[in-house]
Amino acid sequence: MAIIPINLQDGSIVKFADSIIGIDLGTTNSLVACMQDGQPYCVKDAAGKNALVPSVVHFAADGSVVVGEAARAHLITDPANTIYSVKRLMGKSYRDVEDIQGFFGYKILDDDTESLVKVRVKDRYFTPVELSADILRELKRRIEAELGQPVTRAVITVPAYFNDNQRQATRDAGKLAGLDVLRIVNEPTAAALAYGIGLDPGQSEIIAVYDLGGGTFDISILQIQDGIFEVLATNGDTFLGGDDFDQVIAALFAAQSGISADTVAADKSLGQEIRLLAETAKKALSQSEVFEGIVAGKPVRITRAAFEQGIEPLVRRTLDCCANALRDAKVGLDKIDKVVLVGGSTRVPLVKSGVADFFGKTPFDALDPDEVVALGAAIQADILAGNQKDLLLLDITPLSLGIETVGGLMDTIIPRNSKVPNRAGRQYTTSVDGQKNLKIAVYQGERDLVQHNRKLGEFILRGIPPMPAGLPKIDIQFIINADGILTVRAKELRSGVEQEIDIRPTYGISEEDMARMLLDSISNATEDMRIRGLLEARNEANNLLNSGDKFLEQNADILSEAEKATTKNLLIDLRKATETEDKDLIHRAIEELNAYTSPLAHRAMDETIRGAMRGKKV
Ligand code: ADP
Ligand code: MG
Repeated sequence: MAIIPINLQDGSIVKFADSIIGIDLGTTNSLVACMQDGQPYCVKDAAGKNALVPSVVHFAADGSVVVGEAARAHLITDPANTIYSVKRLMGKSYRDVEDIQGFFGYKILDDDTESLVKVRVKDRYFTPVELSADILRELKRRIEAELGQPVTRAVITVPAYFNDNQRQATRDAGKLAGLDVLRIVNEPTAAALAYGIGLDPGQSEIIAVYDLGGGTFDISILQIQDGIFEVLATNGDTFLGGDDFDQVIAALFAAQSGISADTVAADKSLGQEIRLLAETAKKALSQSEVFEGIVAGKPVRITRAAFEQGIEPLVRRTLDCCANALRDAKVGLDKIDKVVLVGGSTRVPLVKSGVADFFGKTPFDALDPDEVVALGAAIQADILAGNQKDLLLLDITPLSLGIETVGGLMDTIIPRNSKVPNRAGRQYTTSVDGQKNLKIAVYQGERDLVQHNRKLGEFILRGIPPMPAGLPKIDIQFIINADGILTVRAKELRSGVEQEIDIRPTYGISEEDMARMLLDSISNATEDMRIRGLLEARNEANNLLNSGDKFLEQNADILSEAEKATTKNLLIDLRKATETEDKDLIHRAIEELNAYTSPLAHRAMDETIRGAMRGKKV
């Protein structure tokens, strides 16, 4: 944000040669969209029919991986190898999903409660990131076929309530699928953008985004001001959606055709047949007043009135969530300017009218509710590409901002992912006696040393009265305004000497650079971890080498020549291992030495005790 020139008069906009695409990576369905002649559109399947790609991955017996409609067919025929709802697992540990394990028809790995979950398919394990990457690859293939050119950059949407882990996991999935994820955007923000809400810089309003999908319900209250989308509150139910509507109809159809719940439970394909017909009926009832069909040779029938009666409690639950969200946002019903409908299930007339009655407003529903998030993602992508004039869309700072301190260290003042506008400050002092001038260098990035980050500018605070080192009190304030301009202000509090500079977006950094810098910080984190692991292994080895030598010395009488020789050889192996950079090799050498010497140590201890007993002879 702040320092990113999305659109500048001086021509420093970064224009990408290839298109940036927008992706809605949904729990039930995913979509990919891009811009054409200034309008967003969702890319359809090869037959030109369906824009939705079911978020389902099937692993066939021959090892091939199928995604989408073709995979969905296997939910019944091959449930153990057909993965759905993987979005529910993103960035989660086993402990996080323990309670909902029964929901999944496939195996979730449960050996380690703290680490991130994996899914078992046959004899292989997959992370939710890998499985999401499979879905993203399918979307990438689809749009590349449509555009006839490779696509590498994307904006991906996530629910507003996704935490950092879940957002990072989504980013990683993109990377794995060969996509540079330029930005992760909140689904409700994207939905608003699709309706053009927030695109007018002068506009200031509060909106509610009501998203009822296949299995989840989300309500978000957003405040939009000067192109800044701030999430005031989110609420919802992670197990409430169109699937539950299907269940209501399915139960009725089963009863009408004289099939007991037990029979349905026992006969999976019959159960699925009824569920599929129920979904067809539900969709039909969004248009017609009555639906008639056949289950197991018997006619079944449902009217819209009966359907509405059945789902009324479910709809009421969503409205209770809306009330809670408003309460959390501390926003009265009368303060809501607009209501936006998202998700396939908002096509149900009772849902539409329920939301309209609750908010006392006609909701925005002109766009296809399945597509609206993807369409908004494409608009966001277009903004990032610099194609939308005079538009600065900011919601968070993408990189940390800070100053250089002694030793070239980066001292972060506004951390990455902070909201804008923003203000933060900290106090510093001098490191040299009588220091009169102080250089304040401002950097952007995630690395510990400023030399690895990007310098945004510097200035000198002059005229500090001579004082011993450590006595001056220098207050540094970072202020980012809604236009993304960072002002850095420095003031020596004892003398009142003051200086400030504006760091304008002309110092900006392209989205490309930003992506690279973030990746750098991640890849270097791995390197930092590797080095730490190596140092720890070496420390452990050195301790062992010392005690090993002592052990041989002290127990020379107890050990056989062969035992001494083997121990010595193992110690030599370990010493050699410590000279390498390979921490696994060191660990293996440690284990071998321990395995061999621990029985010897036990024997030595026994001997020592026996000796002590002998000495104590009474
Ligand atoms: P998600 O966000 O969870 O991926 P979607 O927004 O794609 O889900 O919504 C999928 C749900 O919308 C399914 O339960 C589907 O049956 C329902 N749906 C789709 N079209 C209609 C319709 N015409 N009437 C009622 N429900 C519909
Ligand atoms: Mg959705």
